[in-house]
Amino acid sequence: MTDAPEPSEKSPLEERLIQLIKLKGPITIADYMADALGHPHDGYYMSRQAIGADGDFTTAPEISQIFGELIGLWLVETWRAMGSPKPFNLVELGPGRGVLMADILRAARLRPEFTRSAQVWLLEQSGRLRHEQQKRLRSSEVKPLWADSFADIPAAPTLIVANEFFDCLPIRQFRRVDNGWREQLVGLTPDGERLGFVLGNTPPPADYGLPDPSESREGDVFEKSFASQEFISDICTLFDEENGAALIIDYGHMQSGLGDTLQAVRNHEYWPPLSSPGLADITAHVDFEAMTRAIIDNGASVHGPVTQGTFLERLGLGLRVEMLCKGKKAEDAQAIRTSAARIASPDQMGEIFKILAITSPSLPPPAGFSTP
Ligand code: SAH
Repeated sequence: MTDAPEPSEKSPLEERLIQLIKLKGPITIADYMADALGHPHDGYYMSRQAIGADGDFTTAPEISQIFGELIGLWLVETWRAMGSPKPFNLVELGPGRGVLMADILRAARLRPEFTRSAQVWLLEQSGRLRHEQQKRLRSSEVKPLWADSFADIPAAPTLIVANEFFDCLPIRQFRRVDNGWREQLVGLTPDGERLGFVLGNTPPPADYGLPDPSESREGDVFEKSFASQEFISDICTLFDEENGAALIIDYGHMQSGLGDTLQAVRNHEYWPPLSSPGLADITAHVDFEAMTRAIIDNGASVHGPVTQGTFLERLGLGLRVEMLCKGKKAEDAQAIRTSAARIASPDQMGEIFKILAITSPSLPPPAGFSTP
């Protein structure tokens, strides 16, 4: 552990939110998350070394290069199934330190035409991470462009990849009370000193599609991400106009259900979600059933979700591990096997992480979503 402050320390963002709530009343958890992660000055991704072994959390591409290489091969294969469009957009949503894109581009060298035809777009809100992405991709053969929002990316045939992006998108929470649902909001503790959860006074609108109260018990929590649904709708609209495929990788559940999944992490440890916003990562599980419904409602095709372990095995993880281990010293080969097991085995990241693809309706099912 390094300099983790006690949760009792107030971050600058917490001070500001307390003042704001005193003036205007409670805010939604979605507004809280958006500020905690994306505030231009004090947001978590703007101000912290978030990702990697030295950061607060680590991700699959940071653990094993095989992750990005297999995804790179999937993208090349899917591009061919789209008729090898030239030019096309190769988009990454939330590229972190740029490791996944670097591994994708290295694997894609097998098909120089793919890289030559790709306009790489990186959707990234953090200036600090944009800088890291730029440094990491400087030696690659592509000239990436950065987007502030999905609308910045011009209509063209498009491939999209998003690893641990949707879990950062703001969610709202609703709590079951004796006579229905109330929104759970971020307000103040009774002494007015700290941030605390409070309940809204009025029932949420009927068109929010909350579960029937008779199927839940008092105290249960239901989560909904309007931000995620908007993103899905934007992707589907593009895939209606142009051929496209998106690979979405995240932790979450296959079926919508009740439960509070809002979590914060700092220095690889859980952290109270309302303590010191801006100093800890804050995320929620992705509801893949809600995502699937949104894709179908928007007229695109959905494939999966399948678990990350199954997907990577189907794409040839085992073979790739053996290839990389060939001729290596025993301890280096062991390190390769250990990191591959971390991303794929069910008791590590293989089961909780799911992979889902969205495609234009005319495209065939992409690799990895059915038994070969
Ligand atoms: N995909 C990377 C990083 C995951 S962390 C990896 O696998 O290692 C989440 C990433 O999404 C960060 O780059 C963060 O800055 C970015 N991000 C989160 N919310 C965003 C938003 N609303 N708009 C743009 N980028 C966002």
